[in-house]
Amino acid sequence: MKKTIKDYEYQGKRVILRCDLNVPIENGIITDNTRIKESLETINYLIDNNAKVIILSHLGKIKTEEDKKDNTLYPVYLELKKILDTNVYFSEETSGKSLEDKISNLKEGEVLIIENTRYEDIEGKKESSCDETLSTYWASLGDVYINDAYGTSHRSHASNVGISKLLPNGIGFLMEKETTKLDEIMNENTHPFIVIMGGKKISDKTLVIENLIDKCDKILIGGGMCFTFLKSMDINIGSSIVDDDNIEFCKKILNEYKDKIILPVDIVTSNNEIKNINNISKNDVGYDIGPKTIELFTKILKEAKRVVINGPMGVFEKEGFSKGTDAIYKCIKENNIKTLVGGGDSAASVNLLGYKDAFFHISTGGGATLEYLSGKSLPGIDIIEDK
Ligand code: ADP
Ligand code: MG
Repeated sequence: MKKTIKDYEYQGKRVILRCDLNVPIENGIITDNTRIKESLETINYLIDNNAKVIILSHLGKIKTEEDKKDNTLYPVYLELKKILDTNVYFSEETSGKSLEDKISNLKEGEVLIIENTRYEDIEGKKESSCDETLSTYWASLGDVYINDAYGTSHRSHASNVGISKLLPNGIGFLMEKETTKLDEIMNENTHPFIVIMGGKKISDKTLVIENLIDKCDKILIGGGMCFTFLKSMDINIGSSIVDDDNIEFCKKILNEYKDKIILPVDIVTSNNEIKNINNISKNDVGYDIGPKTIELFTKILKEAKRVVINGPMGVFEKEGFSKGTDAIYKCIKENNIKTLVGGGDSAASVNLLGYKDAFFHISTGGGATLEYLSGKSLPGIDIIEDK
């Protein structure tokens, strides 16, 4: 068990809080504030316990000076200023005298948001390479370090792993929720355990398949990635999305686990035609799983005690191509199956199709959850002190 936010006293202490406030911003407007909302419990807990709250977060990627203006945390600061019931300040500097002055002036229960940690990447990738000088500097600004940035826990950066090495530390409420839910569903021994995989790129997910295949009873594969599997079986997939670099992977895994991997038997094309899998023509582009596949998948799914979903069944963002994804979610909801959803677009599809409350857990971390499901450890969490 890792130490958590509840294991420390905060009265008057300077707390460095690493959040994941990496929200989508277009022309200075936040288009989805889920990550801000998810961070509030931890921020408010520290405010209520009279800490001086110093928040670090990254936003997007910073490679050039130009990237800075599109990836400033200033709009996030304005949003938090609106939401939080205390004084909230912003430091445009990620290091230096003006930042230090702002921290000295911070009173108990007040919040300071520091500009994007990746501004420190411009010279020598200091944040992303977990530079020791930068970690030491940031650690010197606080007394306790709380990491609530689950979405970056698969990275070893100065603002997470680096500071953790140097200050008394613990995980925040969001991080605790994410890890507890993932551990619970992966470690319980209930069967049938069904994995549903879809989405666009199989290359991101081969490790997930390899790790889960021995643990689960069946993997149902839809979405764009099914076409690489079908092509590896010499099925004509027309002009559907394919990843030729992974044909060999698919062949190998199908060979080894023939009975465990279930592929579509029909598809819906971009022209809205339903085609049997053996009847796809050259110009057809598969956009969704077909009705017979829905029947096949839901029949297996109904019996499940545990489900992990990573990737939508079709191009759900386009009107008319969310039927497969919707049918899977509906089946889970109706049968009340304990289900974890991982992956950024999968989470978006759940929200879009209105199933937010039907699941055991919808993970907020895309890359981090994929790494976890691949069986890898997450350095941002590993480094936190044990109880
Ligand atoms: P996640 O973010 O949940 O891990 P991915 O990023 O792998 O999922 O894939 C999500 C994307 O896959 C969605 O934008 C969706 O439109 C796309 N997709 C699903 N099915 C297909 C398909 N048949 N052809 C092309 N793209 C697809
Ligand atoms: Mg994605």
